[in-house]
Amino acid sequence: MLLLAFSFSALFVSGAAASTVEGLRLWRAPDSTRLVFDLSGPVEHKVFTLRNPERLVIDIQSSRFSASLNELDLLNTPIKNIRYSEKKGGDLRVVLDLKELIKPRSFALAKQAGKNDRLVIDLYDLEKETVKTVQTITQSKQEKRDIIIAIDAGHGGEDPGALGPNKVREKDVVLAISKKLKKIIDEEPGYSARLIRDGDYYMAHKLRRDTARKAQADLFVSVHADGFKHASARGASVFALSQRGATSETARYLAQKENEADLVGGVVLGDKDDSIVELLLDLSMNSNLAISLEVGDKVLKQMGRVAHLHKREVEQAAFMVLKSPDVPSILVETGFISNPQEARNLRSSAHQLKLANAIFAGIRDHFTVAPPEGTWVAWQQRGGGKIQHVIARGDTLSAIAQRYNVSVRDIVQANKLSSTQIRIGQTLTIPAS
Ligand SMILES: [Zn+2]
Repeated sequence: MLLLAFSFSALFVSGAAASTVEGLRLWRAPDSTRLVFDLSGPVEHKVFTLRNPERLVIDIQSSRFSASLNELDLLNTPIKNIRYSEKKGGDLRVVLDLKELIKPRSFALAKQAGKNDRLVIDLYDLEKETVKTVQTITQSKQEKRDIIIAIDAGHGGEDPGALGPNKVREKDVVLAISKKLKKIIDEEPGYSARLIRDGDYYMAHKLRRDTARKAQADLFVSVHADGFKHASARGASVFALSQRGATSETARYLAQKENEADLVGGVVLGDKDDSIVELLLDLSMNSNLAISLEVGDKVLKQMGRVAHLHKREVEQAAFMVLKSPDVPSILVETGFISNPQEARNLRSSAHQLKLANAIFAGIRDHFTVAPPEGTWVAWQQRGGGKIQHVIARGDTLSAIAQRYNVSVRDIVQANKLSSTQIRIGQTLTIPAS
């Protein structure tokens, strides 16, 4: 009888608290490395560093380890090796042998949005701060600056985004489109692009907006390819922020799914959205929203030339990633990855390029008409870049055209000439070649 009581209570203790580490994933971001433990249940944990040699120790209470360590790619991370030991009493110790000093931060993510309990360990790189400041200063001092487009590839890292047939993942598709878009923009005179994320790691919505603001972006474009409840849903769409309701059921659904990304991707306390943003929104949001809707409309029209459109108007919903008080922001759904035909298209590099070209064509349509002050494009629009040629004796239109490497037709058009006759002393505007 005594024996029976004893074994029962021992079973109860371990059964109540025991958890298993079922998987381990690693994501490298530009300034940090994220290690994610998949758990069968919630755990208590403790993290501390040891010197000589450098190590990070992660103690997890009442846990077993049954994850594979073989598939982790430690290249370009501060981690040399990962090992673990299951201690007497049932606790688990995981040790990271480090190549360099790091600043650790850890937090638990409770089971939510289809993901198990997770333990997140972030290893922040030391140094590097000064470089960024210098870049920002030189940029703001430029006289005829570029129009800056911040390109935000949705999801990443822990958050794969929507999943399509044949394991197509939204996070990969949108990063590929974003990289193509950046290349197109950087090649256009007067424009330059910044990728908000340029690898496979997660960034909080707030951090995405802050990064765009720090880059002094004139426009924030979030690129997505979400899924829908029904595989038949198809077509590209463009969204702007709504502070009230959503313009359609699909818009509401997509915004809700999108906003869940912070839960799936793993967001640290400091990166959470705060209410100050909400306050600022009301003050300056109106003019930004008007610009967002205008750009969105131009982008949608251009996308209609290369893809089926889900709706002919820019839709609005409460997307958190679009809540920048001072940067016009749009979200482009390049298609529904849940639709087999569109998933196939979205995977094709040629189609990705078409989409990227269309997105930029729309952006350019907007900024050609309404360039921000102080930009090269605005200066061009005022004729700043063009050469004035005063006709001298012996000049002919074809000789002038040849000299400036433009066609006669271009000169005639630029000066609205009714004939090819010119006179001495007349001033001609030479268009850019
Ligand atoms: Zn998405």
